[in-house]
Amino acid sequence: LTKRYQHPEPNILADIGTLAATTKGAIDLSIGDPDFTTPQAVIDASFEKTKQGMTHYTEANGLPELRQAIGDYYQTKFNLTFELPQIRVTVGASHALFLALAVLLNPGDEVIVPEPSFSPYPEEVKAAGGNPVILANKAENGFAIDPLAVEQLITPKTKAVIINSPNNPTGNVMSAAEAKQLAKIAEKHHIFVLADEVYSDYLMPGQEFIPFATYAPDNTVTLGSMSKSYAMTGWRVGYLIGPEYLVTAAKLVNEGITYSAPTPSQNAALYAITHADEFVPEFAAAFLERLTYIDEQVKAIDWLSATPIEGGIYAFIDIRKTGLNSVTFAERLLKLAGIIVVPGLAFGQAGEGFVRVAATQPLPVLKTAFERIKQLDVGQLTKE
Ligand code: PMP
Repeated sequence: LTKRYQHPEPNILADIGTLAATTKGAIDLSIGDPDFTTPQAVIDASFEKTKQGMTHYTEANGLPELRQAIGDYYQTKFNLTFELPQIRVTVGASHALFLALAVLLNPGDEVIVPEPSFSPYPEEVKAAGGNPVILANKAENGFAIDPLAVEQLITPKTKAVIINSPNNPTGNVMSAAEAKQLAKIAEKHHIFVLADEVYSDYLMPGQEFIPFATYAPDNTVTLGSMSKSYAMTGWRVGYLIGPEYLVTAAKLVNEGITYSAPTPSQNAALYAITHADEFVPEFAAAFLERLTYIDEQVKAIDWLSATPIEGGIYAFIDIRKTGLNSVTFAERLLKLAGIIVVPGLAFGQAGEGFVRVAATQPLPVLKTAFERIKQLDVGQLTKE
């Protein structure tokens, strides 16, 4: 093994997953996966095509009909034009991010990773031979990315910055003004913005999602996914959209990795994205109701504080008044109340002092969880 894998760094998110799987009777609020089953019509459409014999590889870049459907989706919904050679189907957005990094980074190149953010980003940068450069977003600012702070970290080695809006775990949605400013900086310094937009369908009232590619089309790589929008995490389908030369290079890299994405999954994705209006609004309404409930509850507990939720499927709860670090807080919450949350530290040092609660449990389960939290003796929680 390489040195890095002989002594892997601790992975708090994975540890929480193990804890959740091995703790009986606990309420698991750590799950980053919609609880809904994939819509039946999506499953049926996939199986129908499989029964008809679609059991072979597709083209390496994905089923042409699916790539076209992804392009049509952006055209219709966002008035954004992508040509077919710019669109590649991948095995989830994570795979898309890795391919983008693999074709962009020379050894030692830098990628700016604003935190708190999705835990695997720095590891993916390292796996592709680069160095992650962490930017700590500020809680006072709702964890928004300050484009000028990004600019200050740019060196001759910087190749890209990874953004994620709506954000996991913070719930921040990048404003149009912030996006325009970041786009100008990316163009000026010739760097890429790798825009992870997997939660684009989940917005709180008054929020708008505009794909980052709108602002800097030649400098953006869009990382999208069927996972969250259509409750399809297990099918493993996402996509990469970027300049044609980058997508062509990604095809070369991927030739010996996954080649194409699984054909039955691509057929499911094709049905899902072309019938999105039949189920996305229902999922979005459920997340909105749950997040609103979580937010109200947190605001009513005097030893917790809420972070404004603008989008996504998570609440990032400020626990600083308890004086505990996020790992200790999570351990004690499990022990004293039987509830599993993710320590903010799992999303980088900038997430310390917070815990992530996912809205991926039905409302009655959330209600039970908050009843338990409200009954907690905070003295006992902090003193143990
Ligand atoms: N990006 C973010 C921000 C995520 O939260 C997740 C899943 N938790 C992913 C990417 C992974 O998406 P996929 O299932 O498409 O690989």
